[in-house]
Amino acid sequence: EAKAKGRNTYHFYSQELNAAANERLFIENELRTGIREGQFQVYYQPQVDCRKNQVVGYEALIRWFHPNEGMIPPTKFIPIAEATGLIVELGAWILQEACEFAARLASQDLKNNISINLSARQFKDANLVSTLDKIIKQTGVEPKRIHLELTESMLMGHVEAAILQLHQLKALGVSISIDDFGTGYSSLSYLKRFPVDILKVDRSFVKDIPEDSNDMEITAAIIAMAQKLKLNVVAEGVETKEQIEFLQNNNCFVVQGYYFSPPVSEAELPKLYEHLQSLDLIKND
Ligand code: C2E
Ligand code: MG
Ligand code: MG
Ligand code: MG
Repeated sequence: EAKAKGRNTYHFYSQELNAAANERLFIENELRTGIREGQFQVYYQPQVDCRKNQVVGYEALIRWFHPNEGMIPPTKFIPIAEATGLIVELGAWILQEACEFAARLASQDLKNNISINLSARQFKDANLVSTLDKIIKQTGVEPKRIHLELTESMLMGHVEAAILQLHQLKALGVSISIDDFGTGYSSLSYLKRFPVDILKVDRSFVKDIPEDSNDMEITAAIIAMAQKLKLNVVAEGVETKEQIEFLQNNNCFVVQGYYFSPPVSEAELPKLYEHLQSLDLIKND
């Protein structure tokens, strides 16, 4: 009986594994086609400075519109693009798109920063610096407008190599953000060694403000620490006025989240400006 049960259990797991493997394989194949056929689009989520009442930047977030599956979220395909190496090609395309967008904003006299997420593989890629350098020169974007988002875990593995790569990126004139800050395991002494400019407080700490007093303590501590280290701080996942008030009272003035807007396509920007104006936010300097 135990044997039979064991066999069934094995069978059950292997079926589940098969389904997962099939989905992976499906996405991997479709990714190749999707890249070739241009099924991707970069969306932009505004970052608002609540002291200036202005949009100060946008985070570039990739969207995949599959002809049969509809929108496939990045959390589903980025890890597969990463594992297969396809992220290098896709990531270069995202850098190009986002820099072109930044250059278009600058040509309209909008002084906005564009934050671009890098994946681990992309960050380690020996060609990243020259790829980005080429894109910056070709699009004419001011490098200081470009903020590259990395996560703590991408820095912790090979510390010396990561520091070198960061210095080379910073030599282009771009800024470095630590995304999802507080969810990784970086120590303070490590953090000081990396030439980073911005900490992004992870949404998980923001989302239960003001109900969860632990999260409020942690958020306040991260902001205070960022200030001590002379880093700028951005809070992500802001959905309510109470959260914004708490963040402001604790000296975090740049915020991003559904309270203002979800990520939108460039075509939706006029509508976004109208919406932000209704919240008493103006769009530029
Ligand atoms: P992330 O970089 O931490 O991006 C923030 C995520 O939170 C985005 O999800 C955004 O849509 C979502 N978000 C923003 N404000 C709110 C809010 O108020 N409430 C809630 N519930 N969510 C909010 P998205 O676009 O699905 O991206 C998920 C993750 O996928 C990103 O997390 C990032 O790690 C990765 N990703 C997205 N685009 C790219 C990309 O172009 N390249 C790379 N390498 N990774 C990307
Ligand atoms: Mg990000
Ligand atoms: Mg984040
Ligand atoms: Mg996050």
